[in-house]
Amino acid sequence: MIRIYGIGGYEEVGRNMTCIEVDEEAIILDMGLYMDRFVALQEKGIEMSYENLLAEDAIPDDGAIAHLKKKVKGIVVSHAHLDHIGAIKWLYSRYNAPVITTPYTAEIIEKNAKVKKLIRVNINSSYKISRNIGIEFINVTHSVPQAAIINVKTKYGSILYGLDYKNDSHPIVGRKTNIKKLKELDDVLLLIADSTNANEEKKTFSEVIAKEMLRDIMLGMETSEHGIFITTFSSHIARQKSILSIVKTLGRKAVFIGRSMYDYIESAEKLKIVDFSEAEKMKIPKKNSRKLEELNKKKDEYVFIVTGGMGEKNAVLTQLADDKLPLKISPHDFVIFSCNVIPTPTIRANRQILEQKLHRKKARIFKDIHVSGHAAREDLRDLIKITEPRHILPAHGSIDKTASLAALAGEMGYELGKNVHIIQNGQSISI
Ligand SMILES: [Zn+2]
Repeated sequence: MIRIYGIGGYEEVGRNMTCIEVDEEAIILDMGLYMDRFVALQEKGIEMSYENLLAEDAIPDDGAIAHLKKKVKGIVVSHAHLDHIGAIKWLYSRYNAPVITTPYTAEIIEKNAKVKKLIRVNINSSYKISRNIGIEFINVTHSVPQAAIINVKTKYGSILYGLDYKNDSHPIVGRKTNIKKLKELDDVLLLIADSTNANEEKKTFSEVIAKEMLRDIMLGMETSEHGIFITTFSSHIARQKSILSIVKTLGRKAVFIGRSMYDYIESAEKLKIVDFSEAEKMKIPKKNSRKLEELNKKKDEYVFIVTGGMGEKNAVLTQLADDKLPLKISPHDFVIFSCNVIPTPTIRANRQILEQKLHRKKARIFKDIHVSGHAAREDLRDLIKITEPRHILPAHGSIDKTASLAALAGEMGYELGKNVHIIQNGQSISI
């Protein structure tokens, strides 16, 4: 008997959590935050208790698997983004099970939550969780190091948990998606698939395209005598590596500023995934006032890579826009957003406010210098073709996104309700 429970992420992009019950055992896949609601709570200054987060839908509601608590043998985590790991801090203690993940993801989890038992499994390696359940972390490209499609191996066949994946043939950090392994799987019972970009009729381009866009601006424009500020996702180590190499060509020095960016980079350096030793790193800018004052005097010798692309109130870019630091954004300085805007109400509003402040400073603004880490419709078609799953369960999106993936599966011969399943948070299917 196999039953799949959609706990979170089946009605929104965020708070991802799925449970798979195999006879007398079960595992949980991911425990993520819904960032929009989380940020909204932070801004209201409300206490971050389990009850408050649950009431605001910022974390998954695991009520649908209350009866499975004793059966759960492991919490398996796909990658280090907060919408996949961020709720571990509040939900982990509700289960008597270890967290199992790749080494980089484990490093980030340790910075975010207290976890008694954390099992590290190398990428492209397997681990036997219990009598009936084994897992394998199949390497995929995404926008954070060591992301994996989790292959859940059972006697009924494989279940592929393919959230947050793209097929990048020219990754900047790490290896290519392990297509060979995915092709070898000949008994895929179910593919739980990433619907984020299922309604975009294209292929998601390689990370090298983002690098070329950045190069075009930083090396092709009149930057001399101007400050350059770039913001990107803190976890996007590949993007930061590209920026570092362009900064070097430009003859400047890179300065990474911000707590979360510092943490993600520190973990990547610790595991020798990258070497950023030639850059300066600053965790808390307010504690480095004198240093920032010095840097401000010769801004044209540096490029500042800062947190805050979503307009978060306490992030470095907002502090700069609010003149709260000795480092200043002057008229005609470059502000490059090497990120998209997560399309949710709070985040959109925050970002708009930030841009207005930057306009008032007469900064030159460059937006969307970015490629996504999520497969688009035509990549998803390839993934379905390669893995030939018997059933498909669209996840990681609101209903319009999961429906787009179901429609794509329909084009490929699948039938809604029969072997393509759309569920909402708290619902389950038996296959
Ligand atoms: Zn992700």
